[in-house]
Amino acid sequence: MGKVLIIGAGGVGTVVAHKAAAIPEVFTEIMLASRTKSKCDAIAKKIGDNRIQTAQVDADNVPELVELINSFKPDIVINVALPYQDLTIMDACLETGVAYLDTANYEPKDEAKFEYKWQWAYQDKFKNAGLTAILGCGFDPGVTSIFTAYAAKHHFDELQYLDIVDCNAGEHGKPFATNFNPEINIREVTQKGKYWENGKWVTTEPHKIHKPLNYPEIGPKESYLIYHEELESLVKNFPTLKRARFWMTFGEEYLTHLRVIQNIGMARIDPVKYKGVDIIPLEFLKAVLPNPGELGENYKGQTSIGCRIRGLKDGKEKTYYIYNNCDHQNAYKETGTQAVSYTTGVPATIGAMMYLKGLWKKPGVFNVEEFDPDPFMEELNQRGLPWHELHDVELEL
Ligand code: NDP
Repeated sequence: MGKVLIIGAGGVGTVVAHKAAAIPEVFTEIMLASRTKSKCDAIAKKIGDNRIQTAQVDADNVPELVELINSFKPDIVINVALPYQDLTIMDACLETGVAYLDTANYEPKDEAKFEYKWQWAYQDKFKNAGLTAILGCGFDPGVTSIFTAYAAKHHFDELQYLDIVDCNAGEHGKPFATNFNPEINIREVTQKGKYWENGKWVTTEPHKIHKPLNYPEIGPKESYLIYHEELESLVKNFPTLKRARFWMTFGEEYLTHLRVIQNIGMARIDPVKYKGVDIIPLEFLKAVLPNPGELGENYKGQTSIGCRIRGLKDGKEKTYYIYNNCDHQNAYKETGTQAVSYTTGVPATIGAMMYLKGLWKKPGVFNVEEFDPDPFMEELNQRGLPWHELHDVELEL
């Protein structure tokens, strides 16, 4: 059906490569390219059957990307490198006439800022070129946005209150580790909290608002209100929302480490001179922390991510909870990575499949909730991320 170029050979890239390789009727040819080719080769070898071609590319460099894309001629590029590379990869896709998909919005390297404005600014360019760009197609953003679109399509006349709840109840046995790229993860969780209420954004101190929430098959976990990027597009695409918030669970031990990292300046993203060389403390910290891609082997327990929604149906108030639980050990057995990489890589693969099947193909730049959720939801059930619905339940929020 089509050729895919995957850029980024980390935890998420590993899952995308495994999943795409397992669906030859859709992904006829696959290339995995990243900064370090040996990592691509190792993943390709593990998958076997010569299913994956590999290449080296610096995704910060548009001419290099253009050369690679022109030589392989993919139908779509799946960007699972880092958010810093979003714009260069989008530029290269425009130059070569290829569709684009990612799982995280662009961030400038020198400022921890999660906003779609840079990528939304590409709307006219993609539209005029007749090309599709699919933004935020991981789990959150990604499946959480599709869950919301599915709820709006099938269960509500009006969405009013949305709470996205993200619980990782897994244990990896390390005193401190992040579940995906440490630099991106720490930038995300140390920023101020922010949520949407009555037509405006409300900002809070980091981790100030928290409460225990009950997660299916897991039980109560302390959950912290943080800002998460899908809120920005969801309040725009579902303007009836009176309030939209995002909650994530953190253990005491994790938060204590995080506080220390911040207090001693290791979360800084401005350069400091060390022995005459400029180093960025957070980048250095990444080099000494455990590699998230290698946490899988001893990771036990589940993630549980979903949407708790209150709104109107047939003039009456309705509550609804839709979620997926994913088991770290099962993810590891299938792909060699933990559930956080798995829950991101599977939706990215399905998103590319939606494009190749012509189901999510329109010119312009779109967040995933702007497409038909139904065929995507069906694939989630087939591809390892089954979802569950609860109607008229106590939402705790
Ligand atoms: P990793 O750090 O494990 O992997 C990133 C990969 O990108 C590495 O292979 C790295 O190369 C490569 N890379 C980095 N810079 C460049 C560059 N300039 N050129 C080419 N390759 C480059 O990250 P993850 O796999 O954990 O995460 C991947 C993406 O997924 C991130 O953008 C993250 O924000 C996003 N994500 C989204 C989630 C969601 O639910 N939506 C959840 C989790 C993650 P090297 O190996 O040489 O360092």
